[in-house]
Amino acid sequence: MPFPDLKPDCSHCASLCCVALAFDRSSLFAFDKPAGEPCRHLDAGGACRIHAERAARGFGGCIRYDCHGAGQRVTQDIFAGRVWADEAERREALSRAFPVVETAHRLLVLLAEAEKLPLAEAAASRLTDLAGQIAGAGADGAALARLEGETQAFLGGLRPYVRARPEPERA
Ligand code: SF4
Repeated sequence: MPFPDLKPDCSHCASLCCVALAFDRSSLFAFDKPAGEPCRHLDAGGACRIHAERAARGFGGCIRYDCHGAGQRVTQDIFAGRVWADEAERREALSRAFPVVETAHRLLVLLAEAEKLPLAEAAASRLTDLAGQIAGAGADGAALARLEGETQAFLGGLRPYVRARPEPERA
């Protein structure tokens, strides 16, 4: 089925992960940052000033992070490429939308993996239906909360297919 692009494309994103998400000071982030507030390392053009030194500067969490394509989808499809800079209202709206779409894309990644199993027709059809609903839900948090529950239940029902999958051959 046609999934949206599930690979991050930072060149078409308005640095949403550096703004919308919160992080706590830890071995992965050098300081606390609340959700919706631009990281202090972000420059006015939306670029990371310490990009090449993130690990050395205590931001290994940024290197590990994968939005599964939610960033460019929110920026381009939902907000039509309009950036958040200096517009508190739009920044808030983007910051609300991003975690919702990020959850949707995480579910789509799981469904894309499940699609590789030798599913029976009914299960394959249900997978296509769920993926279509998730992809079409945009940033509708209520719809996606419902679909997340339905997807988890659906994936739980695929255990017999996973168990029946042949073990990969060892070299
Ligand atoms: S350190 Fe750089 S990549 Fe990490 S959140 Fe801040 S601006 Fe973004």
